[in-house]
Amino acid sequence: MKRHIFITGGVVSSLGKGIASAALGALLQARGYSVRLRKLDPYLNVDPGTMSPTQHGEVFVTDDGAETDLDLGHYERFTGVSASRADNTTTGRIYQSILERERRGDYLGATLQVIPHVTDAIKDFVLSGADDVDFVLCEIGGTVGDIEGLPFFEAIRQLGQELGPERCIFIHLTLLPYIAAAGEMKTKPTQHSVKELRSIGIQPDILLCRAPFPVPPEERRKIALFCNVRPEAVIEALDVANIYDVPLAYCEKGLDAEVLRHFGLEKASTPDLSKWKDVSSAIANPDGAVTIAIVGKYVALHDAYKSVVEALMHGGLANRVKVNLKWIPSDRFDSPDADLSELDEVDGVLLPGGFGERGALGKMRAAGYARRHKLPCFGICYGMQMAVIELARNLAGIENAGTTEFGESGTPIVGLMSEWTRGNTREVRAKDGDLGGTMRLGAYPAYLTANSKVADIYGAREISERHRHRYEVNAAHIPELEKHGVLFSGMSPDGKLPEIFELTEHPWFVGVQFHPELKSRPFDPHPLFKSFIQAALEQSRLV
Ligand code: GLN
Repeated sequence: MKRHIFITGGVVSSLGKGIASAALGALLQARGYSVRLRKLDPYLNVDPGTMSPTQHGEVFVTDDGAETDLDLGHYERFTGVSASRADNTTTGRIYQSILERERRGDYLGATLQVIPHVTDAIKDFVLSGADDVDFVLCEIGGTVGDIEGLPFFEAIRQLGQELGPERCIFIHLTLLPYIAAAGEMKTKPTQHSVKELRSIGIQPDILLCRAPFPVPPEERRKIALFCNVRPEAVIEALDVANIYDVPLAYCEKGLDAEVLRHFGLEKASTPDLSKWKDVSSAIANPDGAVTIAIVGKYVALHDAYKSVVEALMHGGLANRVKVNLKWIPSDRFDSPDADLSELDEVDGVLLPGGFGERGALGKMRAAGYARRHKLPCFGICYGMQMAVIELARNLAGIENAGTTEFGESGTPIVGLMSEWTRGNTREVRAKDGDLGGTMRLGAYPAYLTANSKVADIYGAREISERHRHRYEVNAAHIPELEKHGVLFSGMSPDGKLPEIFELTEHPWFVGVQFHPELKSRPFDPHPLFKSFIQAALEQSRLV
C-alpha cells in the first residue's frame, strides 16, 4: 500500500526541510521500504530554470530534462533514487496546465476556482504514479502562513481527509530558538506555527524541532500539550557536523520509529544503518586534506554550486581525504594584470557552470594558469567552454576565438546550438526563442575514445550524463585544437557535439560539456570527481 508523508515547515525558512525529508527517506529505506521523494514549490515561476543562482541556488536537472529545485539533489544523494519531471512542481506549472486546458475548453464552461480546480491539480500531482513504492514523501516549500503556499496546504489537508491516517502522516519542522539573555529555549514560535497549521485544518502528527541543545523534558511536554501531539512525537533535531550524519541522528531520536508507529508498522523492521555509519566515520576521520579552488561567478551563495560541493566531498570520501574549498569570484581575475598567485595555494582548480560575460575572462585566465602550472583543473559546462576558448587563443593561436553567448565573435569556437538529435528525434531551437526550458537538458549519451584518460577513469566506452546548456564547442575546430595536445575524447554518438576534452601533456586537465556533479552520490562517488581529487592529492604531495 502506498502511504504519503507530508513535510511542512514553520517559524523560519532554511531549517533544512529538504535534508530532513531526504534523511527520513533514507531511514525508511534502511528498514527495507521503497521510497520516492517529491517537492511542491509555491512560487509562481514555472520552474527554477530562469531564476538567479545567487537567489535560488542551483538548478538540479533530472535525467528526463526537468529543471528542478536543489532539494531533489539531496533526495537523490540520500536515497540513490533518480528523480524525474514528476517529482517537482510549482504554482506556475500548476496554473500553466490549468490555463492551457481552460483555453482548449476542457472545463466545459465551469468557473475555475482555487478550490477545487487548483487543489485538484495539486492532488493529482501528489498522487500520480509511484504506485510501486511503499512511501511517497512530499515536501512543501516555504513556511506555513505564506500566501502562495495556501492552495498546497489545502490540497494536502484534503488528502489527509480522503486517504485517512492509515495512509497519510503530517510532519512539521520547526525551530526552538535559544534566548541567551533569558537562558531559555523558547517554544512559543513552534506553538504559533502549529496554531497556524491547525487553523487551516492540518494537525501535525510529528514535530521535528531544530534546536541548538537537547530539549529539556518539561519543554517537550509543554510543546506536546500545546500542539496536541504525543510527547514521543516531539523529536529534537540537533545540529550535526555533517549532513550525512542526519539520518543517524534522526534515527537515534526515533523519527522513523514514530512514523512507522503511526502506520502500525513499528515492529515490522529494524534499521540497517551500517552504510551511514561507514560514511559518517570516513568523513570524521580523513587521512589527509586537499584544497580545491572553485572559480565561479555565483560564489556569493554557495548553494549555487550545491551538487559540485557535494560531488567534491564524495571524491574526497573515495580517497579518504577532506576537501577544503577556496571560493574565488571569477571576475577577480578578469583584469589583464590580475594576480593569480592565490592559485599557488591550492591543489586543484574547478571551473563550474555559468552564464553571461562577467567573470568569463577570469575563468579563462584561471584555466591558463592551471594549464601552465600543471595544476589539476576540471572545467564543467561553461567552465569547459571557457577553457576551450583559452586553449584556442593561447595554444592554437586563434586570437579572436570566442563564444556567441556574448554576442558576435571573431572565431566562434563556442556557438549557439540550434539543432541536434536526441535518440531519433531532432530538437530545434530559435535564437530569439524563450529562455525557459529550452536548453539541451537532461541525459544524453557520449562515446569515449579508446585509451583516453576519461575512458580509463570511467572504465567504459559509453556513458550517459546530464546536460543544461544552450551553447556548444564547434566541432569544426577540433582538428586545429588536437594539433596542440587537446584531445576531444568524448563525443555525442553522431560525432557532432564535443562532450569531453582532455590535455594529453598535463597531469589532469579535463573539461566536460555536461554536469557530472548531478549524478555523484556519497555511496557511489562520480568517477571524474574521484579521479580529480586523486590528482589533487598527488599534486599536494609534490609541494
Ligand atoms: N552558458 C553556457 C551555455 O548555455 C553554459 C551553461 C552552463 O554552464 N550550465 O551553453
